[in-house]
Order: sequence, then C-alpha cells, then structure tokens
Amino acid sequence: MKFELTILGCGSAVPTSKRNCAAQVLQVLERYFLIDCGEGTQHQLRRFRIPYNKINHIFISHLHGDHFFGLIGLLSTLSLQNRRGALHIYADSRLQELLEFQLNLLHSRLGYPLVFHSLGREEEVIYEDRVLTVTAFPLLHRKEAPVSGFLFREKERERSVRKEMTDAWQVPVSFMQHLKRGEDFVTPEGERVPNERLTFPPPPVRSYAYMTDTLYRETFAEYVKGADLLYHEATYGKEAEALARTTFHSTAGQAALLARNAGAGKLLLGHFSARYPDPACLLPEARVLFPDTEICTDGDVFSVPLKKRSNFLSF
Ligand SMILES: [Zn+2]
Repeated sequence: MKFELTILGCGSAVPTSKRNCAAQVLQVLERYFLIDCGEGTQHQLRRFRIPYNKINHIFISHLHGDHFFGLIGLLSTLSLQNRRGALHIYADSRLQELLEFQLNLLHSRLGYPLVFHSLGREEEVIYEDRVLTVTAFPLLHRKEAPVSGFLFREKERERSVRKEMTDAWQVPVSFMQHLKRGEDFVTPEGERVPNERLTFPPPPVRSYAYMTDTLYRETFAEYVKGADLLYHEATYGKEAEALARTTFHSTAGQAALLARNAGAGKLLLGHFSARYPDPACLLPEARVLFPDTEICTDGDVFSVPLKKRSNFLSF
C-alpha cells in the first residue's frame, strides 16, 4: 500500500553539483507518477532505481526550463527501450508544439503514443482512476502562461465488515458489497441494523501536494487543505524576500505559513536557489512557524503510511 515520494531534483533554475533541477516521483501502490522533468531527470531515475518504464503519467507544472528540459531526452530513451504503451503528459498545451517541433527537426518518431492533456487556469481534476485523483490548481509565477500545482489524493476506501457481527445478524454474502458501501442492513423481519454496527470505517485517505514556483498567496492554502505531505518551493530565505517577490517565488517562511494555514501533516522544502550551498540555513525560519518541516535532498524518500486501526478487519 505504498504512498511514497522520491525527490529526484530539488534545485532551481541552475543545477549544482549536489542538486538537480526540479523532478520527483510519487509512487501510489503500483503507479509511478513523474512530477516535473528538469534537465538530467533520466539520470536521477536510474541513480535512485525508479523503474521508469512504469511511468505512464508525467505532470509538468510550467514551461520554465528547470521543470521540463529533461523531457525530450527521457522520451527518446523510452522509445529506444521499445516502450509501446501510451504515455500521458499533463502540461501547458504549448509543450506539445515544442516536442513535435523537436521530433520533426530530428526526423524522429517515438515508438509509442504520446497523449497530451492541456492544463488550464482553473482548479480541475485532471486524472482519476480506481484509487486516486489528481487535481491541478493555478499558481502565480508567470502571467503569460499557466502554472499549476498538483494534489494527489487517494479515494475513500470501502468500509470493512465486522464478521462476528454479520454472522450474528445473519447478513447474507450477497449483501456484503452493500455493507462495504455504507448501507444499513434490514433483516427479513424488517429490523434496521445501522451500518456502523456491522462494519469498521476505512483508514483515512492519504494525499500529497506539490506547490511549484509561485508567489506566496494566503488563499493558495485552500487548494492543499489537510495534505499529509506538502512540497513547497522555498527558492529563497527571508533575507531575500524582496527578490522572491520580484521573481515570483516564495521564501521558506512563506512556505511554512502556507503549510500551517493548510493544516498540512508535513512540509518539505525544495527548489533552492544555487546561492545556498547548504539550504539547511532556511530551516529555522520555517520551523518556527511549522515545526514538522524538512529540507529535501536529491534521493530523499518520504512515505505516508497507511493509518491502520487496531480493530481493522477485512472481509
Ligand atoms: Zn523553477
């Protein structure tokens, strides 16, 4: 039941010897989602042993080079490795034009279909399957083009049947799916048995939010309310707050403020300016506002465990 984030790159516009440009992988059960794809991402995928042929969905937050310059290389490698399955890309629609231009110029064809999903400027669900949804939401980093954050959120699971109770009430097997969906049971004599007596509630859903390059806005906390894990860019520290404002970036303290207002579980700071050889210097200003804050390093892995109940039973 994995819900695990691997940081592939936590640098910003200029990569350093220690920090790659923006990229990360979220694994949810057997699914691998690539989020941003800065230069060198395919090297990082290899380095941190991510099975990148299993990546079927790539989310690009915006068209600044540190978030997508690694894409054409990765797409080419996948083709050389005989990938055949469709690859879905969620991005500003102009990325499609750019990739097609590059491929045409190279007289190159990929051996698998690329499926583009255009991101707009409204909050919307852009991906959904049996297990989770991905919602894109607009941030404030470029005026001329959309910039999106992403919220990955598990769907509510079914309730679990309390076998000793269903035995006692002689609930037929054919009704078990109804019970798992929360319906009450009515006995042949007409007595209604509340669902809560026959089932346990499911474990809480898990969520991860990715806040890419953005100016701080208090209202953005609404997009990521209650996220268990929140990654927020912290390009600068408080001493460079004016610079953060003019470049449409955030400081570590602003990231912490947002995490606090959103009621997040844990805050991860990343997208550090190359001016900080050791971004640990940004930690104090964040922790004073939001104690459960960590500084990301390339290769870090953060898991959100499934919160099990002691009396949790599955039928
Ligand atoms: Zn950036």
